[in-house]
Amino acid sequence: MSASESTTYDVIPVSKPCIGALEIKYVTDAVTSGWVSSLGSYIDTFEEEFASFVGTRHALAVSNGTVGLQLALSALGIRAGQEVIIPDLTFVATANAVLAVGGVPVQVDIDPFSYCINVDELKKAINENTFAVIPVHLYGMPANMPSIRELCIERGVRIVEDAAEAHGATISGKQVGSFGDIGVFSFYGNKIITSGEGGMLTTNSPELLDRAKCLRDHAMSAERRYWHNESGFNFRMTNLQAALGLAQLRRIGEFLECRERILHRYKSRLSSSALRIGPALGDGAVNWLVTAQSPRLDFTTRDRLITELRKSGVDTRPFFYPIGMLPFIRSKPLPVALRVSGSSFNLPTFVGLTDSQIDFICNVLLAKLEYISDK
Ligand SMILES: *Cc1c(COP(=O)(O)O)cnc(C)c1O
Repeated sequence: MSASESTTYDVIPVSKPCIGALEIKYVTDAVTSGWVSSLGSYIDTFEEEFASFVGTRHALAVSNGTVGLQLALSALGIRAGQEVIIPDLTFVATANAVLAVGGVPVQVDIDPFSYCINVDELKKAINENTFAVIPVHLYGMPANMPSIRELCIERGVRIVEDAAEAHGATISGKQVGSFGDIGVFSFYGNKIITSGEGGMLTTNSPELLDRAKCLRDHAMSAERRYWHNESGFNFRMTNLQAALGLAQLRRIGEFLECRERILHRYKSRLSSSALRIGPALGDGAVNWLVTAQSPRLDFTTRDRLITELRKSGVDTRPFFYPIGMLPFIRSKPLPVALRVSGSSFNLPTFVGLTDSQIDFICNVLLAKLEYISDK
């Protein structure tokens, strides 16, 4: 988010939410109605409209994307000690959600072009203790869901799609979040749409919806109030958050178009450099954060470049570290994830970023790249 990722106002931030009159209207309405907690019409409407946006029968709002992943695994019936396969390159939330429900995250290497899970490696990693796989649509690029589905159905493995960074991305015209048993989205402040904090589960299964809904609310018995047959969670979203989220959802077409224009301008301005700019939009991807990768960069030079850019008023951010590099994970980072992670960073991407700001960023970047390679 802009506030945490930049400390001065002169620096162009990596991201910042676009809040307008519609958001203010809905949130004001929600707060004046008195329905400020987790009951209220904005929640119902947000869930209904989000399901129809993704093209699933159901959607269920939750407090954030991380607990959304936890709830999805719990609703599917994961037992302690079972393995959940995740890509090695992802935000830590994917791994943390598995750990939080007593599962064992097992990392699989990524595809060097899509940055998403490598399906051949996934095939090798599935065993009799594999409960589920969580493909992540990283930086807006869809994972290869048709192949993952075919493989998982054959092997009896559940699929939870982590679509936290890919609202609106499609594969052959079908939205991400509609391929797995459950899809999970995030509405954190730097995501494609925001509810402040928030998340959404999507599914076609009425049984999974009921199960997740029950667990979201302390597994309260449907027949007997304040009776609980098992331990559950409080993972509810508030009506205030849903009011903000609904306004954003109703503007998502405008946001996605604007993000696409931003990506095209970066690509044309940086076409003379050795940088590989993504995501490649041809494949149904959306542009959450513009990615820049150079085979000439490693962790040290990449970090030096980020520092130099910041001194010149451009905030960027490093790619996620491979999950296998993190000290609380008991395995090693995988080669492609390691190479991509060390040689990549994200450029400012948000609705409201102007053409002249993009041109400024590109000029600074081209100059700093030369400076870094001369040293
Ligand atoms: C943001 C994100 C999440 C978690 O979402 P929160 O709403 O921040 O909890 C999970 N997975 C990925 C890949 C994300 O980028």
